[in-house]
Amino acid sequence: MRNGKRIKRNGFNPPFHPFQIISWLVTTFNICISAIIYIPMLDFIAKAIFGIFYFSSQALVIIIAYKATKCDPTDPWSIEHTNPASNGTQTTQNCEAFCTICNCNVNPKSKHCSRCNRCVDNFDHHCKWLGNCIGQRNYKLFIWLIVSLMINLLVIFVFSVILLENYFNNFGDFQDKANDKLGNCNAVIALIWIMAMFSGVFSLADIYLIGLHIYLAKLGMTTFDYIIYNRNKEKSKNKINSCKDETIVTPDGGNININIPGVKIGKISMDSNPYADSEDYNSSRRFDLPYDETELKSQSNISVLASDVNNYPASNKC
Ligand SMILES: [Zn+2]
Ligand SMILES: [Zn+2]
Repeated sequence: MRNGKRIKRNGFNPPFHPFQIISWLVTTFNICISAIIYIPMLDFIAKAIFGIFYFSSQALVIIIAYKATKCDPTDPWSIEHTNPASNGTQTTQNCEAFCTICNCNVNPKSKHCSRCNRCVDNFDHHCKWLGNCIGQRNYKLFIWLIVSLMINLLVIFVFSVILLENYFNNFGDFQDKANDKLGNCNAVIALIWIMAMFSGVFSLADIYLIGLHIYLAKLGMTTFDYIIYNRNKEKSKNKINSCKDETIVTPDGGNININIPGVKIGKISMDSNPYADSEDYNSSRRFDLPYDETELKSQSNISVLASDVNNYPASNKC
């Protein structure tokens, strides 16, 4: 407990987010439909190919999701500080930031997650599907998870299309097979449609997510940096627009409309705490994000992290 609120160390600590429970139910539903409908309805060769690709990718998804959920991405400096063995002495080595909620020194790239109530090292985002934060220790697992999930969803989608094509082109054979093996052709085709739409939509969303993380890796940003960067960019745009539209009433009652085309207002100062208006991003951040993207890439505190990682206590590494 901290400040009267439970500390969540990993995604298996309650409370569970509804998305997390939905992900478990959907995975179970997927496996059942694949085993009960797809395997009996496919021809021998298609059945073998589907079985190998579907069940191996599904096993990967479950194993990686379990590891990413079970992993504790808490900032090692804050763990060391809160460890009773440290006798309450504050760790100061390589720590340039202080979390007022955890009441200890943390890594400059750490962020306090309000949902988990702990500081997360190199915070990327809080994943509602895993019920855990994604940070330094489980980011690679998260990337492998979305890649294996994409393969899994594409396999379901491709074989759903094959079954639907079979339904439309060989309706008689399909109906006989469905009635013979599963008892109800209409229920079978309805479930295949559901699986096709579900896998199609989610595979597109997953591909977008993978593309976003490739883009962020090229920029050297985390998801959190990207959200805050876009939010500040939007704020600065609004500030520029409000300046353009500003009207001053002169002493003689006339109006002067301040509108200077082509004039770019320089660097917009960041709010002291720009994350205060979001549940996910509402705690103190320990470095300022520059407005300019090129400056962001060369932000010195990003490299600070790399040097600090090598100094983490070995016991805290995954
Ligand atoms: Zn904290
Ligand atoms: Zn969290």
